[in-house]
Amino acid sequence: MRDVVIMGSGCAGLTAAIYAARANLKPLVIQGLEAGGQLTLTTLVENFPGFPEGVQGPELIERMHSQAAAFGAEFMEGHVSLVDLSRRPFTLEVEKQRIETRSLIIATGASAKMLGLESERRLLGHGVSTCATCDGYFYRGKDVAVVGGGDTAAEEALFLTRYANQVAVIHRRDQLRASKIMQERLLRNEKIKPVWNSVVAEIEDVAKGEVTGVKLRNVKTGEETTLSCHGVFMGIGHQPNTAIFQGQLEMNEVGYLITREGSRTSVPGVFAAGDVQDHVYRQAITAAGSGCMAAIDAERFLEAEH
Ligand code: FAD
Ligand code: NAP
Repeated sequence: MRDVVIMGSGCAGLTAAIYAARANLKPLVIQGLEAGGQLTLTTLVENFPGFPEGVQGPELIERMHSQAAAFGAEFMEGHVSLVDLSRRPFTLEVEKQRIETRSLIIATGASAKMLGLESERRLLGHGVSTCATCDGYFYRGKDVAVVGGGDTAAEEALFLTRYANQVAVIHRRDQLRASKIMQERLLRNEKIKPVWNSVVAEIEDVAKGEVTGVKLRNVKTGEETTLSCHGVFMGIGHQPNTAIFQGQLEMNEVGYLITREGSRTSVPGVFAAGDVQDHVYRQAITAAGSGCMAAIDAERFLEAEH
């Protein structure tokens, strides 16, 4: 029987692990299929406080992991495939192993939706990005492209105009899904060039290990063209990793967990931190901050029970 189990080993889960371990709760961190989370997919992180020269994403995660382990956090490889939050202790299933816990911190993140191209996967972190706030700065004076036509794409594109020379917004239809106000801002911005009725067929150039352009296919005419650019931002939405909590925890219509009074979910003893409960900020530092909150909330919950 565990006092605290933490699902997820990104910034939120690892920060929760540091705090819970220092509180002598001997947390167990179940790492999931993407050990270390989204920051392991990127290169230089320049906006995490305390690193004036920036820090490589994987290195930052490795340091958080070591810090949690040094205070006694335990780590387990594997993915939680089932949870039962209807009675306490809560039970989790990881690779056919059953784990019982008095409290649970969910830090399973949200995954950016991707197009599914092999070239996109290979160039992720090398010109393909899912976060303009994180990577926009690297494209000062360069041409970039944003894929999507919703609010995320509009927001990413508008943010990128601060740095980029030109921002092409590649949308598969000729009407944006974004809210009216975002559409207006997008369409009147001189740096933004909409590319309508088009899908990305390929991202070039995998052999060079950098983005040099995108091959576009017009869905109406079938015509193929190449748009030259140095970066491609995927703005087709995010999916919080909450499928296994459906029907057990309160979530919004997209699937983000709803938290109240800090990190509390709709089930007492279950806390949520990081991108899984945050569709607004989605930053490493906000994820870490909410991981700290979840560990403190879990500690106080357990204390009140004794
Ligand atoms: P994640 O990092 O998404 O971690 C989720 C964890 O949950 C993973 O370990 C996964 O394996 C685990 N998991 C999922 N499902 C299960 C399950 N069923 N069982 C067990 N474990 C599970 N932010 C910045 O502040 N600065 C940046 O420069 C920056 N750059 C970025 C670059 C890229 C390419 C990307 C994709 C994101 C970037 N971000 C950046 C955003 C930042 O990475 C996220 O906000 C942050 O990682 C969120 O942390 P998290 O712990 O909530 O979730
Ligand atoms: P969204 O509204 O679902 O839009 C996704 C966009 O990506 C759509 O234009 C969609 O095209 C396109 N798309 C999806 N899959 C694609 C694919 N495989 N290939 C090419 N294009 C694809 O998602 P979102 O923009 O992330 O917004 C989600 C929610 O968050 C919305 O409610 C939004 O209002 C909100 N949000 C608000 C703000 C803000 O207010 N500032 C910012 C971000 C998000 P189609 O249009 O053809 O379907």
